[in-house]
This record gives sequence, structure tokens and C-alpha cells, in this order.
Amino acid sequence: MPQNQPKPRIKPTLPVYRVADQLSIQLPGKCLELADPDGAVEQFAGLLDGTRTVTEVHRDLRAAGRDISAAEVASAVAEFDRAGLLEDGAARTGLDDHDLERWKRNLGFLENYSDLTTSKYELQRKLRDFRVVLLGLGGVGSHMLYDLVGLGVRDIRVVDFDTVELSNLNRQILYRESDLGRAKIDVAAERILAYDPLVKLDTRATYIGCPDEAFAVVEGRELVLSAVDMPKMQVVNWINQACVRAGATLITGGVDSRRIAYYTMIPGVTGCVECWKADVAENDRFSADLAAKKTEWADATREPRFPEDMSAFGALVTLYTAHVLAEVVRLATGIAPPLSQGRLLEVFFDDGMPRESERWSRRPDCPVCAHPRAPRAAA
Ligand SMILES: [Zn+2]
Repeated sequence: MPQNQPKPRIKPTLPVYRVADQLSIQLPGKCLELADPDGAVEQFAGLLDGTRTVTEVHRDLRAAGRDISAAEVASAVAEFDRAGLLEDGAARTGLDDHDLERWKRNLGFLENYSDLTTSKYELQRKLRDFRVVLLGLGGVGSHMLYDLVGLGVRDIRVVDFDTVELSNLNRQILYRESDLGRAKIDVAAERILAYDPLVKLDTRATYIGCPDEAFAVVEGRELVLSAVDMPKMQVVNWINQACVRAGATLITGGVDSRRIAYYTMIPGVTGCVECWKADVAENDRFSADLAAKKTEWADATREPRFPEDMSAFGALVTLYTAHVLAEVVRLATGIAPPLSQGRLLEVFFDDGMPRESERWSRRPDCPVCAHPRAPRAAA
């Protein structure tokens, strides 16, 4: 018998109850009810504890006097697996005891997406090995960095050139009053390595001032989380170009005075920022003119922020981080495509409902992404 034959186990997070002549299994948000007048299903479910192969489950059912064929048992196991009830009790964890304990509650979540062929440990390892760069250590960057490390992402580059100011402390939870005037990147490194000393943290105290500098900080990364907004109206173009050139996925957006908005750009799959701008120029003259006006204003005044950017409210910063973090999990593990792939999703503070704001496609004539290089293979 091959060593790697799965040993099906009903996921520990799914409670099984007998209610009269039915067996009830509680899945997230729904309840599976199985008719079980003679207790056969309960007996079968009881044997799915991760210690037996399918052949051994059949053997033990036969030994208990059940008249059932091997094919019927295999088919019942497959049906339970399709219903999302099973994981493989023989799956290799590939994680040491420390990490298994540290990420125990993550594994409880990832179990939702495991089955007999994909283990929760494999999903956690994908998160651990995901190569991410976080651009900007302000409000979003603060929350994002802590949460990425909490997720178990261990290969992180951070980029920031700023120093800690008192007005940052309504939301930038990486810093303390005693840090005022210090470089954010230094403080962030101290805090994060205290939070998880095993993180491979690559710190870059860099201001992104041109397209080549953008490329230098995203090169070699699978995912770019951009929370930088200066220089206004330019930096997003440079980062977009750099991501296409590096074959890296980009998630960016921002927090306005009363809403969050974000999108995901995957080179070769979705339209890029340049495609989006071309779409707007063709279909929405007003927005295109407004963007041109804002660029003119930013160039003329050299103001670091638009008037509407003066607000930065903790509840929205956290909301933005939560939405983007969920996209990180989808991308790193491959359990689902990112919800914001090729479209701008927004949530207003006032009603809290996520909705699609804009959607755009790849343009075959795009000067930036028409001929992207293939995404990098894992290093
Ligand atoms: Zn494009």
C-alpha cells in the first residue's frame, strides 16, 4: 500500500450531532442533514477520524457487521470530500511545533479550504513563503505589516522614507510617542521583529522618485501592496509599470475621507492602471479632465496631499486593511481569485456595503502591459 494514501478525517472545526434519526454536520453558515435511521452514517462518520485509510474504513465497517462494498465506501468518502467535510489526517505538516502552535488559529480558518488533496498546512506554507513588498508604513502600512506577520507571511520587504509625527498616532499603531522624529522603517523593524523574530524583513529607507526606483523595490516580489501616494498622480504610474515589468501582482487603493477603495492588477491577466486611464479617457471625459486638473494642481502647488486626503480615520484604515488582507490570502493560497481583480471595489463608511465602482479590461494597445513578461517563478 502506498505510504501517502490519505486518511480521511472529518474536519475538527465541523461539529457532528445526532438529532432523532438524522445526523447533522454544521458547516459555516449551513447545516448538512443526513438521514440515518439505522446509525450506519454515524458509524461511518465515526471511523473518519484521520487514523484509517479508505480501505481500512471499509474493513472496520465490515468487521462491525455492515454489508457494504469497498466501492460504496470509496464513493461515500468522495461525496463527503466534495461537500467540504474532510481533510487528510496523514497530511505532512511541513511546519515545526513552534509554527504549528503560533498559527493554530490560522489553520482553523484554512481548514475551510482544505480537502483530501490540499491540506491546511500546505496553504499556511504558501502564506509563509509568499514574497511581499509593502510600500509605505503609514496607517495602512502599520496595520498591514502586523497583520501580514500574523497571517504567517515571513518574507517581507518594507519601504518607507518618513519619520514618526504626533499626528500619525491616531492610526499608525506601529509607533509610540517616544518614537517621534525617528525613521518609521527603523521603528517598524524593531516592533515587527519583536512580534515575530523569524520574519525575514528587508528594510529599504527609500523615497520612490522615479520609475527605476519603483522597479528596484518591487523586483523579486510576487505581491506589491502599495500604500504610498507621493509624488501625487505619478507614483501609481511608476509602481504600475514596475509591477508589469517585474511580473508582480499589485494591490493598491486608499482611504478617502468617508470611503475605502482598492483594486488588484495582475500582469497578463487584468488591465493595468494605464489601461484603466485609457478607458476613462474614452468613456468618461469628465473624470479624465478632473484627473488632469488634479495633476496640474499637484505639480503647481507641490502640496503633498489633496485637501480630501487630510482625513485618515482609524475605522476606515482598519477596514481597508481587512479587505486587502483577505485578497492577500486568496492570492497567496490560490483558494479563490481576488475579488478586486481588474475592478475597483469601494465601501462607504455610511452604509458599510462593498460595491463595484469601476471595472476595466486589458487593452491590446496598452503601452505598459500589452506585452508583459511572464510572472516570475518562485525563487
Ligand atoms: Zn495596461
